Amino acid sequence: MAQKSDPQPPSLAGSRDPKSGNLKTAAKSACCPLKKAVFLDRDGTINHDVGYLSQWENFRWIDGVPDALAQLKKAGFALVVITNQSGVARGYYTSQEVQTLHRKIDTDLLQRAEIKLDGWYYCTHHPDLAPCSCRKPSPELLLKAAKDLGLALSASFMIGDKSLDIMAGLNAGVQGSLLVLTGYGQGDQSKVPPGTPVFPDLPAAAAFILNKTIDLSAAITG
Ligand SMILES: [Mg+2]
Ligand SMILES: [Zn+2]
Repeated sequence: MAQKSDPQPPSLAGSRDPKSGNLKTAAKSACCPLKKAVFLDRDGTINHDVGYLSQWENFRWIDGVPDALAQLKKAGFALVVITNQSGVARGYYTSQEVQTLHRKIDTDLLQRAEIKLDGWYYCTHHPDLAPCSCRKPSPELLLKAAKDLGLALSASFMIGDKSLDIMAGLNAGVQGSLLVLTGYGQGDQSKVPPGTPVFPDLPAAAAFILNKTIDLSAAITG
């Protein structure tokens, strides 16, 4: 009998289950709604594609990109770069050099446009010799960023200059995947799915996203 009363506290303790787990989850979702994002390809989209870029000295912004990124940021979009860097697997440069370059780009963007990017995600693998699960057109890095940063994919966009960028966005379930004609864009225009929005460059794509966002909020208000 005494033994039966003993097991009771543990069964009451069963109400521990919601204690930490459930409360924590509720608090988290209440405090931090998912953010919308613009996922950005790097080479040929934000900077001129010089082929296996690794040195800051060779980095050049495409005209108008820092300001366009600042406008997107101001409109509430997280900005996340998703880039294939097989130059690492090919032995052209190291992962450390990729990170050093990205920190220099961050510093320059802060000086030019007073904004910070929200994340850099890159695949270092060789597409043929060491196939991986993270190289675009895989959505894996977008999905990882969404999880890490609390992003709402269905409210987000992808901008890139290759069909593999467009496909990575679509595979991740973004609202829109936009092709820019800088970099490899002109050559890849025939490879993207019909109906893919095409823009001369990132500033034009950003303007489209900003107008669309304004239109959507106007529709909600009306
Ligand atoms: Mg590119
Ligand atoms: Zn990879």
